[in-house]
Amino acid sequence: MLWLGIESSCDETALALIRMTNGKVQIVDDQCISQALLHKPFGGIVPEFAVREHSKNLPMLMQGMIKRGSLNLEDVEAIAVTEGPGLMASLLVGNAFARGLAQGLGIPVYGMNHLEGHLFSPFIGREEKLRFPFLGLVVSGGHTILTKVDGPRKYEMIGSTIDDAAGEAFDKVGRLLGLDYPGGPEIEKWAKLGNADAYAFPLSLIEKNNYNFSFSGLKTAVRYFVEKRKEELLEKEQFFFDVCASFQEAIARVIQEKTISAAKAFGLSCIAASGGVLANQRIRTLLEQKALESDIEILIADKKFCTDNAVMIAFVAALFYLLGLPITKSMEVNPNLSLINFKRELNGNSF
Ligand code: ATP
Ligand code: MG
Ligand code: FE
Repeated sequence: MLWLGIESSCDETALALIRMTNGKVQIVDDQCISQALLHKPFGGIVPEFAVREHSKNLPMLMQGMIKRGSLNLEDVEAIAVTEGPGLMASLLVGNAFARGLAQGLGIPVYGMNHLEGHLFSPFIGREEKLRFPFLGLVVSGGHTILTKVDGPRKYEMIGSTIDDAAGEAFDKVGRLLGLDYPGGPEIEKWAKLGNADAYAFPLSLIEKNNYNFSFSGLKTAVRYFVEKRKEELLEKEQFFFDVCASFQEAIARVIQEKTISAAKAFGLSCIAASGGVLANQRIRTLLEQKALESDIEILIADKKFCTDNAVMIAFVAALFYLLGLPITKSMEVNPNLSLINFKRELNGNSF
């Protein structure tokens, strides 16, 4: 079955075409345009600009696919679009585009949860590894979630952040260090030149049996630290590299510790990890090392599927469809859609 995936929940416009045959996915085309550069001077996402860019980029990406010959609209059998969570304005553009296209083609359009896209993305191209239960770890710009996945849409929340998400902490610390948005990839780049043990920033909520996260204290600790040593930050490169490395290490250690101990405590022998922050090589390595030591299998999404993309949206829709789950026709967007509270009523479009 040929699926077109559409993702526009935040500042990435993405379109993907995937074919699901006998439970195996083939990625036919995968396109993404990031608006990060455009929003950079404002230190955050400007909704009006996001709307304008999504409206321009979605038809442009589609035309590009058609021109390249990867997309023949008549062959598409279903559309999957992100309906939440995300920015209301951004979500609306993707949904309007998806619904218009589906209506024109006379095919169904399904509204998908962006977080479920992230959650299942470690299985893209490794579909045979999907077994329940597993421990899902999603660490992104807006979320830090540990959840026991007993089946699709059967989630038991184990822990989540009580304040900032890890990605948000990367972005905020990036800003206070004078780096471009998003801060995560920038900090990773400079951290490579630094000493991760130079400064001991707090490992928040690290105590045993606590699977919640807190990154706001860490961010504040870095702020006070660099405010006190402003001159060094401006004058000494090595100091700046060491701060980047030590901050990244604090996040990596907390994620490593909580994830592996949650897997042990809940008797889960497989971890699936994803979300933008998992593009970070140090975090990937620490998780993989500890999982190996603990005899736990860990699947971390390919770096290109960690940050926002449309393959994961099409993939999770195709997967749920295959598993006979009642996925719904896209009716409305929900900026606050969560992983466990599906606020909308299923509207009977089950299979
Ligand atoms: P959500 O999925 O929670 O709605 P989002 O879609 O904005 O939020 P993602 O696209 O999954 O989030 O991830 C973006 C976040 O990942 C940003 O905060 C960014 O700084 C962070 N990030 C991206 N690459 C890296 C990296 N190499 N190291 C650390 N953080 C990174
Ligand atoms: Mg983004
Ligand atoms: Fe995301």
